[in-house]
Amino acid sequence: MKCRVCRGKAVIDLPRHNASFCPSCFDSYLMDQVWKAIDEFRMFHKSERILIAVSGGKDSLALWDILNRLGYSTIGFHLDLGIGDYSRESTEKTRKFAVDRNLPLHVESLTQEVGASVDSIADLTNRPPCSACGVSKRHLFNRAAKTMDCHVVATGHNLDDEASRLLGNILHWQDGYLEKQNPALPDEGSLVRKVKPLNRLTEKEMAAYAFLKGIDYVVHECPMSVNAKQLFYKKIMNEIEQESPGTKQAFYFGFLDRRSHFYPEKDESTPSFLCRECQSPSYTEICTFCRIRLKVSLAGRDPDSGARS
Ligand code: SF4
Ligand SMILES: [Zn+2]
Ligand SMILES: [Zn+2]
Repeated sequence: MKCRVCRGKAVIDLPRHNASFCPSCFDSYLMDQVWKAIDEFRMFHKSERILIAVSGGKDSLALWDILNRLGYSTIGFHLDLGIGDYSRESTEKTRKFAVDRNLPLHVESLTQEVGASVDSIADLTNRPPCSACGVSKRHLFNRAAKTMDCHVVATGHNLDDEASRLLGNILHWQDGYLEKQNPALPDEGSLVRKVKPLNRLTEKEMAAYAFLKGIDYVVHECPMSVNAKQLFYKKIMNEIEQESPGTKQAFYFGFLDRRSHFYPEKDESTPSFLCRECQSPSYTEICTFCRIRLKVSLAGRDPDSGARS
């Protein structure tokens, strides 16, 4: 197997591009894909400070590494979800990555912020764990970005994440989610811009990058994801891709090309309330994150207080 660019020995085969690459040309290809995503969606520029949401997995650590190599000003933000050994290992690997490369990292604990870990919050509030986790992350990432003077929050979602999410959203015609499925969501009032610079790269490509760069990441999936529909949709997308290479990217990029046709840009209304508890923009008097926090605190005071109602 020869590298498409330099004809040297290839180490990775990318059927979707009908190409194989040696380590050095693969690195150039991958950096170029990230650069294209940043440029195409005007995600950020060199004078801006980027908060990177780092979970300890391959994608977010690789994203931090790549943006640092491209010369952007970054700060890592890790949220310890309190999920036993999984979270301990995630926090440890994230800290080690930052220390080894001398990168700034800020760590917060969900248990300290809300009063319980993701699984307990799910139990106490009757929400699926991933929903409680998603609400908490959105709130705490945004708060951290504002506190640390960051202009944008970047996450490590890759092409597989985005394509499987799109499949799920289309299967259930989730218009609200489809409308917002964009690799760059602009600032809205005090909600900081959110971007996904890895949206052109697959899970396999990110794993190859992490391996070639010697990035030590958490290999296990989050234990809460066992029943997550997302994994099922990923499996289906991978089966389709296996039969017909290139379908995943055609599906996702095809949607992005047509997105504004189906969901024309509106003069997006910023939520009109400020949450009574935390002053974040909210469509209700108390934002979802604070409602979760209040329920957990009520349940802590009185286990029979009806936190499950
Ligand atoms: S799988 Fe669910 S609980 Fe685990 S990190 Fe992802 S969103 Fe959070
Ligand atoms: Zn080469
Ligand atoms: Zn609030």
